[in-house]
This record gives sequence, C-alpha cells and structure tokens, in this order.
Amino acid sequence: MYQEQKKTTVTVPLLPPLEEFVKYLEDIWQRKWITNNGHYHQELEKALSEYLKVPYISLFTNGTLPLMVALQALRVTGEVITTPYSFVATTHSLWWNGIKPVFVDVDPRDGNIDPEKIEAAITSNTTAIMPVHVYGNPCDTARIQQIGDTYGLKVIYDAAHAFGVEVGNASVLQWGDMSTLSFHATKIFNTIEGGALVCRDEAMKHRIDYLKNFGFADETTVIAPGINGKMDEVRSAYGLLELKYVDQAIAVRKQVSGIYREKLKGVEGIHFFEDYDGIRHNYSYFPIFVDAQRYGKSRDELYHHLQQFHIFGRRYFYPLISEFSTYRGLPSAARENLPNAHRLAESVICLPISHELDACDVEHICYRIANH
Ligand SMILES: *Cc1c(COP(=O)(O)O)cnc(C)c1O
Repeated sequence: MYQEQKKTTVTVPLLPPLEEFVKYLEDIWQRKWITNNGHYHQELEKALSEYLKVPYISLFTNGTLPLMVALQALRVTGEVITTPYSFVATTHSLWWNGIKPVFVDVDPRDGNIDPEKIEAAITSNTTAIMPVHVYGNPCDTARIQQIGDTYGLKVIYDAAHAFGVEVGNASVLQWGDMSTLSFHATKIFNTIEGGALVCRDEAMKHRIDYLKNFGFADETTVIAPGINGKMDEVRSAYGLLELKYVDQAIAVRKQVSGIYREKLKGVEGIHFFEDYDGIRHNYSYFPIFVDAQRYGKSRDELYHHLQQFHIFGRRYFYPLISEFSTYRGLPSAARENLPNAHRLAESVICLPISHELDACDVEHICYRIANH
C-alpha cells in the first residue's frame, strides 16, 4: 500500500468513495457513450446549474479552455485589463488569443483588482476586463459592472477559486458577461481535470457549446474555428459524485479556517484577510501575509522553517504573473505600477487547508508559526 511519512500539503484532493464511483463506471461501460455531451455530462450540467444557482453552464475538460473560449465567444480583441495577482492561466488565455494584457494593481484588503485603478488603464484598444475572485474573495462586482457599462467593456471573471461563493445569498458567478471555473484536482470541487463556463443566456450557451466542439453547430455546419474543450463521461460522473461530498468538505475547511484565525490573530507580524459578513465562502485557501520586520523572520524563512516540520504551504501567488518572461516587458508590468500586488506576492504563504485536517493538525501548524 502507498504510505510515507505524514506530510501536510497545501491541500488534498477530495476523492469520492471508490466503490460508489465503480457503479457509475459500470453504467458508462453499458451505455458505450463515453464523451460528446453524454448522459452524465448533461446530468452534471443540470446539477451544477442548480447547486451554483446559475442558469447556464457549459462543462470543459479543464479550467483554462473556458477562459480562452469566453474571449472567443465574446469576440474580445486588443487590450484586456486584468490582475497580476493570480495563477498564470488567467493571462495566458489572453496571450493565446493575441490579446495584450494590461495589468492593474490590486486592493491590499482582498487581493482583487482595485476597481478605482481600472479607468486610468482604459485606452481606445480596451475591449474587456478580466478580474479574478482571488482565493474566492468576491471582487467589487457592482463597481466593475458600472465601469464596464460606462465604457462598453465586456467583463469576464476568472472564478476558478469561487466555486459556490455567494454574496447575500446570490452566486458571485452571476456577475459579468461570463465566469469561468476550474475543477482541477487542487480546487475545492474537482473532476480531476475539468472546468466550466457560466453565461447569461441560452443563445450564448449554444455558441459556447459549438466553440468547445470545434465550432460544429450541426453535423455539417462549422460556425467558427472552435477547439476541443469537451468533458468526458467518466469525469462527468465523478463530478456528480463529488458534488454529494463537497458541502461536507467545505464545512470541515470552515472549521480549519476558524482555528487558524483564532490561533494566529495574536501572532505579531502575521496578517490575514478580514472575514466579511454576508459572504458564503468555500474556504479554498488560507493565505497569511508575513511582515518580516515585526515577525522577525522573512516570508521565505518561515516557509522553509515550516517545511522542516513537514508542513508544506505554497507561495500563491508568487512571483506575480507580470514578472514572468512573457509579460515583464509590458509597460503595465512595471513594479511601480503594481506596489500592492508586489507586497502581497512577497509576503504570502497559503497554509494547508483541506477536508482531511483536524483541529490537532491545525493547532500544530499554528504552534510552529507562533514559536519560531
Ligand atoms: C486553477 C486556475 C486556473 C486554471 O485552471 P486549470 O483547470 O488548471 O486549467 C485558472 N485561473 C486560476 C485563478 C486558477 O487558480
């Protein structure tokens, strides 16, 4: 059997019970329809549309293709305003569409694009805004919509971290023209690899579904240069099963997050984001920010210190996307343009959080952070 010394990693994928999954597999083998909008694919779209409280959702084989297809579906070109404080896929999707990313600094209170800095970055070539609900923290969606409406810009949210996140009982995925999700193994809800694109009307869902299937509108009509972004039956069935267990996992993570907050709030030089009322979080991440002067150790020193005790956090999101070779020559990638994003990126550690951690594990991590 697979065994090794216990390591506490940043997260653990939520795997549905194997014996339940086998039943689904047997059924798929019977049906002999294993991809292309099959039975389980349709079932998962229905189930997710209900669970996430969104009218239209299209499944994808990963979380990067929905970003790329959203830009195609909305015919976004030229320049897109986005955040450097994210996973690289956000900006790569622009690059793959021949679009120039324009980085705008983030709000240090939640890590999201600062809406007050968006207008100054708009040029005659700007066609859209691509914000990220980083760590599942909801963006200032109302303000961003107002800017989008004023300037005639599309809004596409990279909501890869925002599965199930609600503000005042409404899904954060309802905002903007579209929102994308990732169901990668490390995300709160996974289909091993997978993703989805949420849109607002049926005609657009059709367009998305054509685009993710090479552009085929029917047997003989190709309406656009589409791509292959389809999710298969095996992972769709896995997703249906996963959905039964995700609330339980979120509940455990909520407890973990509560212990972190309680135990770390008194530790000099360790900060975290405020827990705002009225938001249903998914507790995907627990980022802390290290003030080296006050803590007495740098972020990297703490990061390596924890590793000695087999505690493996991750420095999400460091380096900033704007620091990677593809993007660092852009004028908007200049350090002076992104001071808040740099400060977060240089001080962050995402602590381990998962449905498998118990109070003891979390208290041990907090003890190691407090006593260094
Ligand atoms: C995970 C992630 C993606 C990409 O999703 P994949 O499913 O890995 O392709 C995109 N954006 C953000 C912010 C992510 O965290």
